[in-house]
Amino acid sequence: MSQNFHQPTRMCISCRERSIQSDLIRLQCVDGELNSFNGIGRSFYLCQTCLDDGKKLPKALMRQCRTNKREQLMNKLKEIITDDR
Ligand SMILES: [Zn+2]
Repeated sequence: MSQNFHQPTRMCISCRERSIQSDLIRLQCVDGELNSFNGIGRSFYLCQTCLDDGKKLPKALMRQCRTNKREQLMNKLKEIITDDR
C-alpha cells in the first residue's frame, strides 16, 4: 500500500494517535458549542476508536471547547456522527 504513504495524517485529540485524515472525524467548537467543521477557523480531529469507546473523549472535548457542559457536548457529538453516516 505505497499509496497510503503519501496521505496526510492528523492527531486525534483524545488518544493522540495519528491516523490518515480520511479515517478521522473533523470537528470544531464555536463559542463552546460543538459542530462539524464548516471550513472556517480552528478544527480538531477524533478517531473512530475514540468515538466508539471514548472514556477520555468527554474530557478531551471539554478541553477543546473550554466548557464543562459534558452532556451537551456528548449529545451534540452523537448528532453530528449520526448525520455523517
Ligand atoms: Zn482517538
